[in-house]
Amino acid sequence: MVYEGKIYRPWMEANSLLIQTTLGCTHNKCTFCDMFRDKRFRIREMDAIFADIEEARRMYPHIRSIFLIDGNVLVLKTDFLVKILDKITATFPECSQIALYAGLNDLRRKSVDELKQMKQAGLTLAYTGLESGDPVTLERIKKGLTPEQAAKGMAKAKAAGIDILVSIIFGIGGKERSREHIVTTTRLLNIMKPEQIAPMALAIQPGTELAQQVETGAFIQATPLQILEEEKYLLENLAGFETIYWGDHANNIVSSRGILPESQKRFLGKIDHAIATHPVTQQEVLVTSPW
Ligand code: SF4
Repeated sequence: MVYEGKIYRPWMEANSLLIQTTLGCTHNKCTFCDMFRDKRFRIREMDAIFADIEEARRMYPHIRSIFLIDGNVLVLKTDFLVKILDKITATFPECSQIALYAGLNDLRRKSVDELKQMKQAGLTLAYTGLESGDPVTLERIKKGLTPEQAAKGMAKAKAAGIDILVSIIFGIGGKERSREHIVTTTRLLNIMKPEQIAPMALAIQPGTELAQQVETGAFIQATPLQILEEEKYLLENLAGFETIYWGDHANNIVSSRGILPESQKRFLGKIDHAIATHPVTQQEVLVTSPW
């Protein structure tokens, strides 16, 4: 099987078969992200994708889940993506989940009918990056997305029956906008009601625009205490809809994974304990690992 360049997948997809359908990300401008800086966006040839699917079948007798990479795979034309999904479901009838990376704007640009075709062809889950519900923060990080666009993309996915994981970043508003960031993000999540939420503490990736802003003082990082307080606010104020909470990213101060709202009290107890006792709360900056 052929993989080009650095490969990324969500940590929840560690056991999935990865099939590369695109290279890079069509946006590639977010100030905090260096995932695909080394790649110009390109769509792989259908024949090459099919060859990988067939080779994987020969290699693996049982595949439970498949993840399509690279960045925003949902930018593919609907017919093209449906052909890939059809090929996967015909080749791996035992596979119960097909997921991919999608921009919330990619979802918004498709019609509900197109998304339904993808769902019917086997697409079960899309991983999307919201990062923040704060319009000021979204603009500063050059996300190319507004809160309204995010909500529209989500509504279309819901209408089509495709589950959505929304990732957000604790600390992405910096020290100054920590409160605005988490209040608006929580409010937007309560409108979007995603089936899964993955919050991650901000990691400053070397070589990014954000890393330069940290160096010049244009961006002052939220303190570890603020990051804990952001998570506390989020957990206290999510509006009771059922969602899978993936708070166990390696950079998070507290690791929590489970279903909300049933685990809310337990997760909040862990945050309160960390706020009261964790030595990291005495530090100015959270030490994180690059992705
Ligand atoms: S965060 Fe996502 S949309 Fe932004 S540049 Fe990175 S891969 Fe592209």
